Amino acid sequence: MLLSSVQAKLRKCERCGKYKRRLYSVENMMICSDCLRGMAFYEALKDGFRDPSLRGDAVIVGMNVGDATWFNPFAQAWTYPLFLWIYFKTKREDLPLYLDDLESAWRYKTPLDRVLKVYIEEGIFRIVESDGRKIIVEGDALKEMLKKYHDRQDVLDIVGAWVSGLIIARLHEEASAPDFRAVNAIVNAIADKLVDADGNIKGEPYTKIASYRCRVCGAMFATKEETRRHLMAVHRVPSDEVMMHIEEERIVIGYLLDYEYLLDVLKREGVSRERFVERMLKFRILVHEDPETPWMLEREGKRYLVVHPAWVRVLARTRAYERELLRERERVK
Ligand SMILES: [Zn+2]
Ligand SMILES: [Zn+2]
Repeated sequence: MLLSSVQAKLRKCERCGKYKRRLYSVENMMICSDCLRGMAFYEALKDGFRDPSLRGDAVIVGMNVGDATWFNPFAQAWTYPLFLWIYFKTKREDLPLYLDDLESAWRYKTPLDRVLKVYIEEGIFRIVESDGRKIIVEGDALKEMLKKYHDRQDVLDIVGAWVSGLIIARLHEEASAPDFRAVNAIVNAIADKLVDADGNIKGEPYTKIASYRCRVCGAMFATKEETRRHLMAVHRVPSDEVMMHIEEERIVIGYLLDYEYLLDVLKREGVSRERFVERMLKFRILVHEDPETPWMLEREGKRYLVVHPAWVRVLARTRAYERELLRERERVK
């Protein structure tokens, strides 16, 4: 009796097909909270690439999303046009990329049309005709990104990561799209633990000393020793009083995420923890790229992952969007 009354309350999400107790009406669909978050995450990444205050963070997160799904055979179909384009760009600069070339190389179950449609909608590619042949050229968004990063050697790495991250995030939770369980787990763990519902960061920051400041005149130095010498020479401070005039300038290089909680969320999503952690460390997904920054901390018997601040800032934006989506539409109980 009890079981059936509980089941009766479950309703099917129109986006991912999972049965949930609570659905929300968004864009004329009844969707679950996971799908709502997925949509907001995609918006945050998409807008982030166009927002100077979030662009660098969005590139890092996009790169991580690409790496986290890299070996996934479904994801490969979605990123193949991108890699073929990069190949032409680097190795065969003088040759146009014909649609025929892509069609004849296509070996995936996912129809090419469906994949290209997303590239075109996102402004990554455009298809133009020349002498009766269709050519794939850069869309407006891709052109803009190439322009922004043109002065860097790793421009194609950055742009490649941007495209794959954006596409993978857009497909988030869509039926027959790549499997994003690992990305879902990361997104949910950070959104739940490190950001509040208004989109404010509530996680405990992990900091490191970036520089030292002289309290007397405000001058900045890279090392404590330089500051000490400065105080003694310029301000005539006796050596035993030097320390009280030195201030450490700290910068946030991470936020502490309850490691057991992340492992639990991964398990709930059906992701192999061992494989995830192996890949996380290999590609520096979620954690700092700088190997001198620890990826894990132990404190009072509890383990914490030191999460890259880019993820936390993108998830803060995500939760703010989530709230906007909900405010616009009435919640359906
Ligand atoms: Zn759903
Ligand atoms: Zn000074």
